[in-house]
Amino acid sequence: MLSGWGRTSPSSARLRTPSKSADVEHLVREAGERGLIARGLGRSYGDAAQNGGGDVVDMTSCDRIVDIDLQAGTVTVEAGVSLDWLMRALVPLGFWPAVSPGTRYVTVGGAIGSDVHGKGHHRDGTFGSHVLSMDVYAPGPGHLTLTPDGTPEEFWATTGGMGLTGIVERATLEMLPVETASVRVDSQRTADLDSTMAVMSERDAHYRYSVAWIDCLARGASLGRSIVEFGEHATLGDLPARERSPDRALRFGPSRQVAAPPWVPSGLLNRWSVAAFNEMWYRKAPARSSGHVVAASSFFHPLDAVDGWNRIYGKRGFLQYQFVLPYAQGDVLRAVIEKLVNARAASFLAVLKRFGPANPAPLSFPREGWTLALDLPVSFAGLDGQLDELDEMIASAGGRVYLAKDSRLRPDLLEAMYPRLGEWRQIRERLDPQGVMRSDLMRRLPALAGHATKRPTARTPGFPLQSEDT
Ligand SMILES: Cc1cc2nc3c(=O)[nH]c(=O)nc-3n(C[C@H](O)[C@H](O)[C@H](O)COP(=O)(O)OP(=O)(O)OC[C@H]3O[C@@H](n4cnc5c(N)ncnc54)[C@H](O)[C@@H]3O)c2cc1C
Repeated sequence: MLSGWGRTSPSSARLRTPSKSADVEHLVREAGERGLIARGLGRSYGDAAQNGGGDVVDMTSCDRIVDIDLQAGTVTVEAGVSLDWLMRALVPLGFWPAVSPGTRYVTVGGAIGSDVHGKGHHRDGTFGSHVLSMDVYAPGPGHLTLTPDGTPEEFWATTGGMGLTGIVERATLEMLPVETASVRVDSQRTADLDSTMAVMSERDAHYRYSVAWIDCLARGASLGRSIVEFGEHATLGDLPARERSPDRALRFGPSRQVAAPPWVPSGLLNRWSVAAFNEMWYRKAPARSSGHVVAASSFFHPLDAVDGWNRIYGKRGFLQYQFVLPYAQGDVLRAVIEKLVNARAASFLAVLKRFGPANPAPLSFPREGWTLALDLPVSFAGLDGQLDELDEMIASAGGRVYLAKDSRLRPDLLEAMYPRLGEWRQIRERLDPQGVMRSDLMRRLPALAGHATKRPTARTPGFPLQSEDT
């Protein structure tokens, strides 16, 4: 049984484990009618790396760093290498991944499959924008080396293609040179949504990284109150003199500190307990601070400090709702936040970010605009219908939800949210003419495979939230 990070819709598959990336071809041929999908560390929240009744290829065993070119600042890795492993190997040499999502426990293959973004999207774009080349096994043509210039269609269809064009076996990535393993952080507390948006719009062009942690339980005049953080990789001069030797400045060894309890009493996470946490967190932040130097891991990956934190939402699991709206649709952003706040679904801090321009990948999630992400327990009554309403508002405003986080989108909205879906499908048909690459995500959203979807009158049977909530 495999599930995503949200643990909402497990399905049973035959797990295949290649011992080296060259075995991938054999596994694709063997899958035949069962179909298959690649899986990294399973950190996508929904069903993207599942293939109920078929094969799932666990790429984490293909985890060799093949080559490091210190002059060029590039690294070639097998697709199962995690960003955690990459950072432990490369930070001491003075390099940081050009894009790092909110957890280090993702593989390079998974980061390409979802075309992940980090706190620096407005400056650095997505992970795919820093892939110089990748070796892919696609069921139709076989082994391919894809580059953005030589094979742009196949390269960008695989970037953000949710594993459905083939299996990435290895990739060459450009890295960012850094002097230290620390980040210099400036932060500002804001009283409401207008000031949060204004502060981010005014200040984030001056920083490589920016993010606002929004209290999504604060209402009325405090709606949208946040702590906005801006970061830069710290230079040697930012560190105290005794920390400036290269071996100390570039020491990167975050350890997992606490394990989440194996089970959590139901009802522990409720509107009151979460509101109390959010209140305490907001009050303890200074109104404004600057030049605070912290370990990069605590700035980029605060949740990695708690092992298995996804269990705190209980057996039924949770989902992460992440969407993006064009900058011109700030009013829709406000309306969506108001609806979420009024629904009073217990949610720890939500994350608000500003995206820069989209890259050429037809299914890549980021586009220029505001993106909001928040975790919601699926046990929350009426969640399903409320999120459907929000999806409609977001689709009509030219926005979209993130497939790597999704477990519940109404199928008929996919094409409106991803208007270049048809273009992507044509490239996919060349790479996988028999439709061997298959996932639960694709079955749930059949437009990915080219099957028309009408607006449903009821949920598709087996839809995870239906069995739980209706
Ligand atoms: C705490 C947390 C924070 C997160 N923060 C962010 C964030 O800030 N930004 C962001 O963008 N995402 C974020 N995510 C989501 C995560 O980065 C993505 O879901 C990522 O794809 C997970 O990588 P993985 O190795 O676990 O892949 P999986 O979840 O196993 O797979 C994800 C997709 O990639 C495909 N895939 C995996 N390996 C390969 C391969 N070798 N070849 C082809 N396709 C492949 C799979 O088929 C699947 O479609 C976060 C997730 C968590 C749990």
